Amino acid sequence: MNTETYDAIVIGGGPAGATAADDLATRGYKVMLLDRQGRTKPCGGAIPPRLIKDFEIPDHLLVAKARCARMISPKDNRVDIPIENGFVGMVNRDEFDEWLRERARSHGAERVKGIFEKITRDSDDVARVHIQIHTSSNDQSPISSSIRARFIIGADGAKSEVARQTIKGAERTKYVFAYHEIVRAPQVQANYDPSRCDVYYRGTLSPDFYGWVFPHGNTMSIGTGSADKGFSLRGAVGRLRETAGLQSAETLRREGAPIPMKPLPKWDNEKDIVLAGDAAGVVAPASGEGIYYAMACARMVADSVHEAIQTGNAACLKKARKTFMKQHGKVFWVLGIMQYFWYQNDKRREKFVTICEDKDVQQLTFESYMNKVLVRKKPMAHVRIFFKDLAHLFGTART
Ligand SMILES: Cc1cc2nc3c(=O)[nH]c(=O)nc-3n(C[C@H](O)[C@H](O)[C@H](O)COP(=O)(O)OP(=O)(O)OC[C@H]3O[C@@H](n4cnc5c(N)ncnc54)[C@H](O)[C@@H]3O)c2cc1C
Repeated sequence: MNTETYDAIVIGGGPAGATAADDLATRGYKVMLLDRQGRTKPCGGAIPPRLIKDFEIPDHLLVAKARCARMISPKDNRVDIPIENGFVGMVNRDEFDEWLRERARSHGAERVKGIFEKITRDSDDVARVHIQIHTSSNDQSPISSSIRARFIIGADGAKSEVARQTIKGAERTKYVFAYHEIVRAPQVQANYDPSRCDVYYRGTLSPDFYGWVFPHGNTMSIGTGSADKGFSLRGAVGRLRETAGLQSAETLRREGAPIPMKPLPKWDNEKDIVLAGDAAGVVAPASGEGIYYAMACARMVADSVHEAIQTGNAACLKKARKTFMKQHGKVFWVLGIMQYFWYQNDKRREKFVTICEDKDVQQLTFESYMNKVLVRKKPMAHVRIFFKDLAHLFGTART
């Protein structure tokens, strides 16, 4: 039996896990990064400039740069929002995640390809993580192994097994299910712009979320999401492809995955286990944006583990959630209300897209998305938007 003790084991090597492992390894801790690998995470791959800056993402990982977002209403009203002074980066998750994992390794994290099974306790109460290691992809008899660790970070994504086994209340998380098809980008096509993201607000494409067509260089992501289990996402993506004139584009992959709907009320076990990323439920409502939040959350989790190691006080683990909610809780709350109100029916979606014609709305929305801060420098714009929203809410707006 392995008696070596790691300072931390990070379970899951997506953006959250790779970031937490990197941050802790960079600080000199003995870290293992465990990931099952072999499957590309289904994802639209849109990332904001704030992520690129904070996490030092090199330009070569950006397969496309979107400089305009087109919002499309149920009645086909199209509102183009130029992304001034910047762009939204597009990454392919297979390359992006692997690059993040390798960065963690280059800073000292030990990478292991394996599947998390369970956590037990040694006689001294230190956690032991049990894993299955597959030596090849068609390996019928995996090797069982176990590792001792002072701290465990569960970054194993939505429906996290670490969360299910160790954090009370995790089993009650609700999900949106998102599905997309990766197609080969057309060489020439009217209405196709490789630097524009199209976002469709239409009940036939999603009753409670939105449909998207995102450029990815040689490929494109065409997808939609919904919490309604009876709604056919495949059928909706078929309709979306037809609407976008992409029905005959070559399909390279079809894939889907759940997205958690809100942060878990508790991320840690008050002892030595803490969650990060989708496992902790940190995906923005209304937009489904999760990569930036997973990495930001993981950085806070790594800080909390560092502090717990330094002080010997497990209560420090709580700080990760507290700090995250302090920084992003308000935005999540606003987006949650927005989704609830504007995504309810086509009449409201139509108004929502009309509101997006407003320059103040465009600027505030995009600055908040790009830089992850609620813009405060234009208080009068907030007031104007507030009254315009009210006018739309009560049907008194002239649009
Ligand atoms: C269709 C779709 C489109 C999306 N589009 C966008 C978008 O455009 N922009 C955006 O910001 N967000 C998007 N998201 C959300 C985003 O993908 C997630 O929020 C983000 O990937 C969360 O990162 P994570 O590291 O927490 O989890 P994940 O990326 O899910 O990583 C979890 C890791 O854990 C590993 N793992 C899981 N179980 C085990 C186990 N038992 N043992 C070992 N390893 C394990 C997996 O291999 C994986 O590498 C989208 C999601 C979906 C489903």
